[in-house]
Amino acid sequence: MSANKTEQYAATTLDADRLAQSIKRHLQQSLGVDLEEAGPAEYWEALSLVVRELGLDLIRKTRHKERDEKARRVYYLSLEFLVGRLLGNNLHNLGIYKQAEEAMANLGVNLTDVLEHETDPALGNGGLGRLAACFMDSLATLDLPAFGYGINYRFGLFKQDFAGGKQVESPDGWREESCPWGIERPKRKQLIKLYGRVSERAGKAVWEDTQEILGMPWDVPVTGYGTDTVNTLRLWESRAAEGFDLSSFDEGRYQESRSGEIQAENVSQVLYPNDNHPAGKELRLIQQYFFVACSIADLIARYKRENGDNWDDFAEKVAIQLNDTHPAIAVPELMRILMDEEDIVFSKALSICREVFSYTNHTLLPEALEKWPQNLITKVLPRHMQIIHMINYHFLHTEVEAQWPGDNNMKRRLSIIEEPERPGGQQMVRMAYLSVVGSHKVNGVAALHSGLVKTTLFPEFNEMWPDKLVNVTNGVTPRRWLDYCNPELAKLIDDTIGNDGKVDWRRNLSQLDAINAYADDPAFQKKFAAIKHDNKIRFAAVVKELCNIDISPDAIFDVQIKRLHEYKRQQLNLLHIMALYRRLLDNPDLDVPQRVFIFGAKAAPGYKVAKTIIHAINRVAERVNNDRRIKDKLKVVFLPNYRITLAEKIIPAADVSEQISTAGFEASGTGNMKFALNGALTVGTLDGANVEIAEEVGDDNIFIYGLTVDEVAELRHRGYNPKDVYNSNAELKAVIDWLASGDLCPEEPDAFRPLVDSLLGGDYFLTLVDYQAYSDAHDKIVATWKKPELWWKKAIINTASMGKFSSDRSIMDYAKTIWNMA
Ligand SMILES: *Cc1c(COP(=O)(O)O)cnc(C)c1O
Repeated sequence: MSANKTEQYAATTLDADRLAQSIKRHLQQSLGVDLEEAGPAEYWEALSLVVRELGLDLIRKTRHKERDEKARRVYYLSLEFLVGRLLGNNLHNLGIYKQAEEAMANLGVNLTDVLEHETDPALGNGGLGRLAACFMDSLATLDLPAFGYGINYRFGLFKQDFAGGKQVESPDGWREESCPWGIERPKRKQLIKLYGRVSERAGKAVWEDTQEILGMPWDVPVTGYGTDTVNTLRLWESRAAEGFDLSSFDEGRYQESRSGEIQAENVSQVLYPNDNHPAGKELRLIQQYFFVACSIADLIARYKRENGDNWDDFAEKVAIQLNDTHPAIAVPELMRILMDEEDIVFSKALSICREVFSYTNHTLLPEALEKWPQNLITKVLPRHMQIIHMINYHFLHTEVEAQWPGDNNMKRRLSIIEEPERPGGQQMVRMAYLSVVGSHKVNGVAALHSGLVKTTLFPEFNEMWPDKLVNVTNGVTPRRWLDYCNPELAKLIDDTIGNDGKVDWRRNLSQLDAINAYADDPAFQKKFAAIKHDNKIRFAAVVKELCNIDISPDAIFDVQIKRLHEYKRQQLNLLHIMALYRRLLDNPDLDVPQRVFIFGAKAAPGYKVAKTIIHAINRVAERVNNDRRIKDKLKVVFLPNYRITLAEKIIPAADVSEQISTAGFEASGTGNMKFALNGALTVGTLDGANVEIAEEVGDDNIFIYGLTVDEVAELRHRGYNPKDVYNSNAELKAVIDWLASGDLCPEEPDAFRPLVDSLLGGDYFLTLVDYQAYSDAHDKIVATWKKPELWWKKAIINTASMGKFSSDRSIMDYAKTIWNMA
């Protein structure tokens, strides 16, 4: 092994016997459970406490080291951290998985059963939150000093069930049972202000008559792989500032004082369930400010503890990454502290902000770009609204003026405040513009997306500041998304290219390239295919248990798992499945391999068309799965409650990865990377990171189809009528008519109207235009599947070529080009 201090640490202090002792101690002394009473749930909690102890020990050591080295720290501000289950991953990272297995076995318990008892902390919606979690893993693994800051939501993303095929949501009280990972840190609590008004005293702004909320930090240790660095994910929980208001208690107004308390606690109650669509609610703005204000106060206090009161070095020690615009209010918050509390003049304060902040853009979708009514910000954060105006005034009248002298039209276009289009409309604060103006770097998340950020989203900013807009292509952590979720494949890779310190693909994913040499090797192909088959058998059992559907591991497992959104085009997949079914009905003896189409997706509760698509897929599934005429050649599975834990079971079992968004709409995608890493072949558009995946694996090893970004733009420019496509493609027409007919949902014949109307009345996401090319791509998939040696060669090349898509590479890119840390 290379210098691997953690494994030494763990091995010397925690062999299986010591681990078993610690587990027993926690069972009895922390949980008050007798050994005889303990079941897997208790063992899970006890082992988690053992690992937490280890983690906290290492956190202290990491902090001491950082304090001594006085290094720059990065603070990753994100409203979402979709971390997934932690116990198994932490055991892996700390190098004590085997020991834990043995310890549990000695106690008569199976570690795998124990691990299944963990509830996913669902503190995120989808890709953006999962990216934050992969980045935390990589920051620790790369020994970079880092904190993640977010919210400890009481209820994570809703749980999803189906009733009659429709999505039904219920609350996810994920930490109701127990949550051994978070540790409360009352010493680091913060008091933050809201509402009130601003007065001027002695030439200084005073924010007063405010309401106060307490922020209580919960620290979650984030272990790195093969290192003793453990970083902190600090999640804030809101509390009432002073328990009871005793005066109103005395007056017998108990109820009233209680309700004051509950309001404050509301702030960290729920995660907004929208992906790529802001809700625009006052409580959401308060959530954003709450976690930002707590985090900025916390990092400033840390800076002062370590560096004293001298602001000159602040920007050298602190880098703050804004994960989307959700934490953009951090810019005026830091300005407020610098100007109002630290007596620093505006221009100096702004230049400090610009050295410290950087912003990651995650979407071009106009409706997904956050804008807050100026009136709302003025009400909730009156001082911040003043500061936004100051920033905007300086920006427009000094910087834009210098670039485009006298051009008032340009000033209106670039203003952080958007003027209403109609009289009587509201002024809106463009959070993306605020983030660009307040940062020194702005990055997109894949090469194609970053190019579009420059040319279509922020072309004027790019002209003003040619070095500001950059690309950092997303990545995923190979620890969770290969080593941990696909241990058989990890072992095959070890056995093939070694795992001896010189070769350590878990920390240097590019070394997978050596697997390319085996792509044609029949013996290696056989092993690779056998592992996929094993994974499919295991996953088929999950499907049987969750959906009571029998699927054959010999079928093609074709998977689309991601949030439900029209731009991601689950509806395109659906239309094609309906067509395949009809082809089989026409000719039940068609020479085609068995196919299983697998979905997992939550729809935002208020997103009507998305929910209709779920309903329609479920109804088609019911029809197809119960039709004996097609002889099990086609199955459709929609797994309820898609989340990290399900993803970890599906992805290693996938043959085909569906990445079929309308070109220009998926900023990057990270699901695409996880699948290819596990040897699935992608069918996809030239969108997001698919473009770079195609570059890495080569055009022969990916099924690219459909309109490109330029062709989409050209078609929109020309004008497009979906009815023309509908009328000219008989198969497509037949399935849409079937969907509209009510046959699939007789008790509610108009159930799928919203979907049909969206397709035929505009088809904004060009589903119909891409239909034929998509169907043709699937025919190629089938032709390739019929030649196993060709299929497995392509699959192996996919795994071998994913080196670029490690989140370690992403984080090194951030460290070099944005944070100046490497
Ligand atoms: C990776 C991941 C995502 C992102 O998937 P995309 O296909 O990139 O949209 C969303 N949810 C979960 C649970 C994930 O693991």
